[in-house]
Amino acid sequence: MDQALRESRLGDFTRLRIGQGMDVHAFAEGRKLILGGVDIPHEKGLLGHSDADVLAHAIADALLGGIRGGDIGKLFPDTDPAYKDADSLKLLAAVAAKVREEGYEIMDVDSVIAAQRPKLSPYRDQIRANLAAAMDIPVENMGVKATTTEHLGFEGREEGISATASCLLCRCI
Ligand code: MG
Repeated sequence: MDQALRESRLGDFTRLRIGQGMDVHAFAEGRKLILGGVDIPHEKGLLGHSDADVLAHAIADALLGGIRGGDIGKLFPDTDPAYKDADSLKLLAAVAAKVREEGYEIMDVDSVIAAQRPKLSPYRDQIRANLAAAMDIPVENMGVKATTTEHLGFEGREEGISATASCLLCRCI
């Protein structure tokens, strides 16, 4: 389709972008389990160069997807000692700042954590609050859900946790 015709049909909707992100980390002994910046009591934690906050990483990649800005592996390489044990909420805040530098605003974010254990619902409100604060968006625009995988797959075998996230961005006028 002709670009001018496309823009006239879409009008202000051409300002919208969606982003999608996913991440996986394996469980390991002697590591903390950090999800959305919350230190969750569990007998194992997630392995990674940073604090391995799989949910914060999935959301950061969704935001970067929305601005076609690569991924967090490109922005914060796991070979860089600066990011060893890094607080992933700070990485997420840096990504949100990059979104705004590119002229976009974060309208809405939703996410899913797939984990057989531990039970995450007691931590959901704090996770949402932490993530919303890191991105400087209202908490009602940050969705977090958790699901088991009915003992199927690596999450179900408790070998690791995965997270996916979607976001809607709007290019500011
Ligand atoms: Mg990761």
